[in-house]
Amino acid sequence: MERESLLTLLMLLLGGIALQPLAMFAPHSNPDAAERQAWIRLWLPLAPALVTVAWLCGWALREPDPVADRVDQWVLIGACLPFAAVLVRAAARAAWALARDPSQAGVFTAGLLRPRVTFSPFLARTLDDAALEAAWQHEQAHARHRDPLRIWLAQLATDLQWPWPGAGVRFAAWLEALEYARDDEARRHGASGEALAAALLATLRHTNALYAAHAESGGQAMRAQARLVGSRRALQKRIARLLAPMPAAQTSRASTRTWLGAHFALLLLVAGVLGAVYGDPIVRELLAWIA
Ligand SMILES: [Zn+2]
Repeated sequence: MERESLLTLLMLLLGGIALQPLAMFAPHSNPDAAERQAWIRLWLPLAPALVTVAWLCGWALREPDPVADRVDQWVLIGACLPFAAVLVRAAARAAWALARDPSQAGVFTAGLLRPRVTFSPFLARTLDDAALEAAWQHEQAHARHRDPLRIWLAQLATDLQWPWPGAGVRFAAWLEALEYARDDEARRHGASGEALAAALLATLRHTNALYAAHAESGGQAMRAQARLVGSRRALQKRIARLLAPMPAAQTSRASTRTWLGAHFALLLLVAGVLGAVYGDPIVRELLAWIA
């Protein structure tokens, strides 16, 4: 079989298998946890699959093309089908999120690479200056962190863990933590909590009045935009939080993030080298077992 074809099939099969244990059993995030922690928990189940893919890439670097194997390619393709179906579903939903009309949100930030804040002029007319400023600061915080892109990627990561319900729970918890974090950032930039709460309620009234028939229930519909009104399930808690004194600012974890990223990159590199050195007998054994 051609080396690249076999590599693709093995990445689907072994990567798909490696993803399952943590997708099933990874702990659910607590929405009160830091946004960064919820973000890492969302992505954690994909780590074994990425390490497996790096190991297979290392293996392929030293394989002759075509690879001498005795495996029936249709047996291998059949074994990959469930994982291919999950991948195609995730890709289709990601494409759909980009194609969707974002105009129902009242105030939102959209644009994967160059996020822009959009205000409905009808909504802006109903807000006083303080609420307008607070909503603007919240959306600016979304734009600074490229949240439309992060939401889109997070949904993709969640869809790759389909159909395990824990992935959806981790995604919802992250979305909730994301809104808290952006509320806090808006307040640190001068927005008042009361004004932000007022802007939230006005936006909710506006979007409900206009689009009651299409109102989303959980804030989890596939999308590639960040909104002022996030998960409606968490609204009551969010407003209570906005009306309470500002929580203490979390210390910067930039060094922790760099440390984590560098170590994971190193892990991928080690996996690639191990694949190049020891991959061949293991893959042969595996193919013999499948055949
Ligand atoms: Zn928001």
